[in-house]
Amino acid sequence: MSVIESYLPSTRIAYFSMEIALRPEMHTYAGGLGILAGDVAHSAADLELPMVFVTLASRDGYLRQTIDGEGRQIDWPDPWEPEQWTAQVPAMVAVTLEGRDVWIRPWLYELASPLGYKVPVILLDTRLDQNATQDRTVTDRLYGGGECDRLRQEAVLGIGGERMLRALGFSIETYHLNEGHAALLALNLLRRHARAPSDNPLEPRPHNTDPVRRQCIFTTHTPVEAGHDRFAYEDVARVLGDVVALDELKSLAGEDRLNMTRLALNLSGYVNGVARRHAETTRRMFPGYRVRAITNGVHVEHWTHPAFARLFQSILPHWCHEPEVLSRADQLDDGNVWDAHREAKRDLLEIVKGQSGIDFDPEAPVIGFARRMTGYKRPNLLFMDLERVRRLHREFALQIVVAGKAHPRDEGGKALIQQIHGHIDDLRDVPIVFLPNYDMEIARTLTAGSDIWLNTPLPSLEASGTSGMKAALNGVLNLSILDGWWLEACEEGITGWSIDHRPEGTREDHARALYEKLEAVVLPLYAQDRSRWIWMMKQTISKIGPIFNSQHMMRRYASEAYLR
Ligand SMILES: *Cc1c(COP(=O)(O)O)cnc(C)c1O
Repeated sequence: MSVIESYLPSTRIAYFSMEIALRPEMHTYAGGLGILAGDVAHSAADLELPMVFVTLASRDGYLRQTIDGEGRQIDWPDPWEPEQWTAQVPAMVAVTLEGRDVWIRPWLYELASPLGYKVPVILLDTRLDQNATQDRTVTDRLYGGGECDRLRQEAVLGIGGERMLRALGFSIETYHLNEGHAALLALNLLRRHARAPSDNPLEPRPHNTDPVRRQCIFTTHTPVEAGHDRFAYEDVARVLGDVVALDELKSLAGEDRLNMTRLALNLSGYVNGVARRHAETTRRMFPGYRVRAITNGVHVEHWTHPAFARLFQSILPHWCHEPEVLSRADQLDDGNVWDAHREAKRDLLEIVKGQSGIDFDPEAPVIGFARRMTGYKRPNLLFMDLERVRRLHREFALQIVVAGKAHPRDEGGKALIQQIHGHIDDLRDVPIVFLPNYDMEIARTLTAGSDIWLNTPLPSLEASGTSGMKAALNGVLNLSILDGWWLEACEEGITGWSIDHRPEGTREDHARALYEKLEAVVLPLYAQDRSRWIWMMKQTISKIGPIFNSQHMMRRYASEAYLR
């Protein structure tokens, strides 16, 4: 019996995502979306959910970031070998792209929970001798190339992925499409369902969308207009051929261009955003759809530093499987909490030293900031007034660690990275370090080892944010603009702090509010009232941990979306 066969009887739900972070050596993710998919898969295994995951092999990864002497990001391929980490499965399916058959083969990664239950992850790969040279690289570079390359990848994921599951023998009842990237799957299902009856055989009615809507669940992950894929109909026709009649396609996906989000919205019977505010934003952007909210969560076992894990284990033995019990973390001993934090911080300072040669002071506060480097995340807000930063350092010994990649085609994001390096030069007397190549390993150390986790997006463009949840599990206190998940989790002065902003305020206003909060509230508390600080650490673990975890999130998906 092949390995796949053991999964066939029980698997009913297929989770589709362009990226998924399974382990550091597999470079199949770019950022938050992939990290979330990985946490979803881990929780699916923990909870024994009948799920299979489908993604691309991305042999060349997303990008490995180095920084040159001028502070500029240099993009490198980030290769990995599926042969080394996954098993080959003898199956092949084809999709037709630009009139050619493009063959796809599956690699299988079996993700096991500590209790032994496994979920299968299928990675789709077009690197095959059967394919024309230009088709062998379709699945190589995650989010690589231009618009048409993206469309080809989405066809492999959506159309090829659905065909692959059938070829392997899965009978899937529910498809969970994450982001518009997988929307072609729904279109492919539609094609197979009968059209509504028509009086005139020469004018066939459009396909009946009801059966497709019963099968499809759509989660949108971005509130940014540019984050939604749109393709010119000429490109769609050239790459995909006649998927469905153009008029019908336009009625489902928009008149001017094929909007993948709109397509997914029209073909999914359950739609959700990834935080309450994000669902509201989505309803505004796409009026007329019922958009629910399931707030993201993180996998507690993966994101908790070993020192805190030992501490939790000692009084809350079921915390991994049932993170709800973290609500009792407020009973932890203060000294133990601080010791665990010092251990996590020591790990961070070691990386900082290794990277920069700079010795941070373990007794002085560290602000951590790591995000995709792009305009609306405003990674430079903290550096709006350099004199003010110097003052915060003189008065409170402030230290700062920054990390994040810019998408290779995001010139604005790349400029931000260079600006930040300029600020670091200007602020030579302040310990500030940029850690290159932010990935899941750096994220673990950075979110656990900072004292303060900063987030300064332009509201309301943060979908959810998850790194602040990772921080909170380790008692790291969030200081953030009220947006995304933080609107649901912030209790001022208890679980962390907000950065006061008026929606109409300028970036200068927001920067000023940030400096004022740091100067008047956050840094004095760190310097002067350690026991209140530790009390807040315990509040943040016990109030945020039980809710903003992926176990809780997946129980919600299971009961509210999958079991509709
Ligand atoms: C958690 C994580 C993200 C997402 O963080 P946000 O707070 O949602 O921006 C991105 N990249 C890596 C490597 C992560 O670990």
